[in-house]
Amino acid sequence: MCEPECPDCAISQGAGIYAINSALCTECVGHYETHKCVEVCPVVCIIINPDIVETTEQSQDKYLALIGQSGQQAPQV
Ligand code: SF4
Repeated sequence: MCEPECPDCAISQGAGIYAINSALCTECVGHYETHKCVEVCPVVCIIINPDIVETTEQSQDKYLALIGQSGQQAPQV
């Protein structure tokens, strides 16, 4: 359910579970007010990775880099 909803194509099916590519996930900044994947998850299994915490400004910068509207390079995936 979450994979097609992700505006950044950051979700993919792995071995038995879906995985989120943190290099592509912008926390939905630039697309939605809330985390779309969390909204649609029927089993409430999406949690924050404490090792990868970004500010809204960092997510916004990543979003702009991904769409090619900043001086930053898009994250390598
Ligand atoms: S928070 Fe948004 S951008 Fe990140 S994986 Fe979920 S749906 Fe995709």
